[in-house]
Amino acid sequence: MHEFTFKDNELYCEDIKISTIAKKFPTPFYLYSYKTLIDHYRKLKTAFSAISPLICFSVKSNSNIAMLRALVKNGAGLDIVSGGELYRARLAGADPKKIVYAGVGKRPDEIMDAIKFGILFFNVESEEELETIQNIAASLKKRVNIAIRINPDVVPKTHSHIATGKGDSKFGLDFETVHKIFNSQWRYPDLKIRGVHIHIGSQIVDADPFEEAIRKVLDFLKKYNIEVDHFNIGGGLGIIYSIENPQTAKNFAKRILPILKKTRLKIILEPGRFISGNSGILVTKVLYTKITPRNTFVIVDGGMSELIRPSLYTAYHKIVPVKVAQDSSQTCDKVDIVGPICESGDFLGKDRLLPMMHKGDLLAVMGAGAYGFAMSSNYNSRPRAAEVMVINSKVHIIRRQEDYADLVRGESIPKELK
Ligand SMILES: *Cc1c(COP(=O)(O)O)cnc(C)c1O
Repeated sequence: MHEFTFKDNELYCEDIKISTIAKKFPTPFYLYSYKTLIDHYRKLKTAFSAISPLICFSVKSNSNIAMLRALVKNGAGLDIVSGGELYRARLAGADPKKIVYAGVGKRPDEIMDAIKFGILFFNVESEEELETIQNIAASLKKRVNIAIRINPDVVPKTHSHIATGKGDSKFGLDFETVHKIFNSQWRYPDLKIRGVHIHIGSQIVDADPFEEAIRKVLDFLKKYNIEVDHFNIGGGLGIIYSIENPQTAKNFAKRILPILKKTRLKIILEPGRFISGNSGILVTKVLYTKITPRNTFVIVDGGMSELIRPSLYTAYHKIVPVKVAQDSSQTCDKVDIVGPICESGDFLGKDRLLPMMHKGDLLAVMGAGAYGFAMSSNYNSRPRAAEVMVINSKVHIIRRQEDYADLVRGESIPKELK
């Protein structure tokens, strides 16, 4: 469920007409519903209340500091993957004791900053990383909590670019190496290796691969008598983009709670998309329509620079007109909705049934709250879009639209060229 609904043929965000919001902000812009965001966080929290896990929102799915603040204020922790995300977490007022840090390529300076800030766990992905953290911990005279990221070698049914728990993926460590690490903890006197971590992929719509991965890890711990007190089961819960029928938080919990309850391990969850995905849309305006012998194109002012998921993963996002014409007898056409970027791969949707579109009409690209703005770019020297959030019937700008000066910030022309 989300708070982007039609009333009298007009799309609303909570109780505000999107057409009204679009008069205040230049398109394209991202629009978020605070209520939807928090509802999804609470759904997960409630579903797992029997074991009160730590829920660390995956910052990379949507890193706007207002979004992070909203979740932090409601009790969430954060899952970060870079020093930049740590910086954002601090600005959002996150509790360091609720921050976990994953990623295969953490730099020494990033590790140093995170240790100084006092984060809960490093989710470590290689032996060399472990040595690096050990050396930095020793130099800072700090004891540092470590969870080892295990690659459980399961194959979730999702796009290959977002499957991370297969044997051939760059993420995590195989069971044998993890066993070796737990047997050689004396090599890391300043580290407390207290946890295990998995994250098997993204947009996974059923519990089977999660259950399989969790069982594999628990069997492994038991077999070798490995003692840890935390088990981070990652994120990856799928959402509805089109015809998916993903498990609800409740059904997911029903499947895996019985297994987790028996362990008495403190559980950490790292959902991104499940919390932020349906909380945001991209609002874009029709610039032109064009009919060619083969296709009808609706050319809009937002494209792959704003939302790259369709181009990158052929991901499906529902696209709807913000205002539906009163005359419901209007015929629909199969159209391609494309952006202004000079790339054939620049599209938001293909072969979509839409009523006749005209210059200036607004379209809403649904389910764009996760991996939307966060993956946006300045390609084609396009200033990045504004982000707007509705909170309790009020519209707030949470990131202004970039201007041309933002585009060249930090660039300079060498004297020799002047
Ligand atoms: C991306 C990521 C997540 C979140 O994935 P979602 O599919 O958005 O839930 C969680 N944990 C790690 C380590 C990640 O890299």
